[in-house]
Amino acid sequence: MAETDSAAVRMEQSSEAEAKEMSAVSDPYIREQLEKRRKELSAALAAPVAAAPAASLIELLGEVDSALHRMDDGTYGICTECHDSVEKDRLLADPLVRLCLDHLTSDEQRALERDLELASRVQRGLLPRTDLRHGDWRVHYQYKPAGMVSGDYCDLIPPPAEDGELVFLLGDVAGKGVAASLLMTHLHAMFRSLAGVGLALDKLLEVANSVFCQSTIAGQYATLICGRAGQRGEIEIGSAGHLAALLIAKDGVRQVCSTGVPLGMFSTSRYTVQHVRMERGDSLLLYTDGISEAVNASGTEYGAARLSIVAGERHGWVPQELAAACMKDVQNYSSGRKQADDQTLMVVHRADTVELSLND
Ligand SMILES: [Zn+2]
Repeated sequence: MAETDSAAVRMEQSSEAEAKEMSAVSDPYIREQLEKRRKELSAALAAPVAAAPAASLIELLGEVDSALHRMDDGTYGICTECHDSVEKDRLLADPLVRLCLDHLTSDEQRALERDLELASRVQRGLLPRTDLRHGDWRVHYQYKPAGMVSGDYCDLIPPPAEDGELVFLLGDVAGKGVAASLLMTHLHAMFRSLAGVGLALDKLLEVANSVFCQSTIAGQYATLICGRAGQRGEIEIGSAGHLAALLIAKDGVRQVCSTGVPLGMFSTSRYTVQHVRMERGDSLLLYTDGISEAVNASGTEYGAARLSIVAGERHGWVPQELAAACMKDVQNYSSGRKQADDQTLMVVHRADTVELSLND
């Protein structure tokens, strides 16, 4: 059936592997959710004037009870049509789901497709402008989700005043698909709120981690780099377990490695900040693992070393061209293979010459 091959279904299925890994940690969470619903339904039925027709409440309560029974006898999360597992992120979103994606009716599949299109539009609306200028800084990024929605996080927060510091962020939520994209939007809202508070960068990451821990399900986490670019080429960088950033300088490429664990793992994580000085013409390259782990026809990964060479040969390039050259090399390398993971690449560049900003 055509619907079975729809983009929505393919994307949902691609997140199945990660979802299975999540299984052991999130089962108690689903049970808790079901028990909560059971309590609320019972309370609604006991109320003197039921808000909804009692019959539909009784039917829902029956479904919740049945799900709890299936949990007890070990058949919960198994498709009633094909006896294969139901996708975990769908169970997290609706614990009463009983059919896997392949066995949804075509109406249900079309509804899922519409929801994903809407989610994709919402997510794209959260992205910053792809080109940003602030003082000497020129920033450009490329954002390529593997499916309709992405677990990659990318943001640029200019300061309220001309002489303030520009905040740049790039992160990667564990997993793909809808569950990952929900966490991405959560990161976006959190950093947008925290960036203006005036915290030191290490504290900003500590608070963000603590908030993220309180609001995520066990087993969900995100790696992230948060940086601040100052007036005279100085940059502060804090990394929560993210891939090393590459500093493309005149005399070569230097890695700026992570000093912290991913957000969402331990609520008491501490972060240290590294200070980097960028000369005119230098660039800082940030990327997600969809880039370094892109594979070629024989299954070999692209790797950070190759990215470092490609970028290192292009010192002084404007960020749009540097980013495009890197992306093109990744695409050539993995040509013919379906993009397996979200790919994001950001270049923070210190302009070579002082440009007049009359035409900005
Ligand atoms: Zn099925």
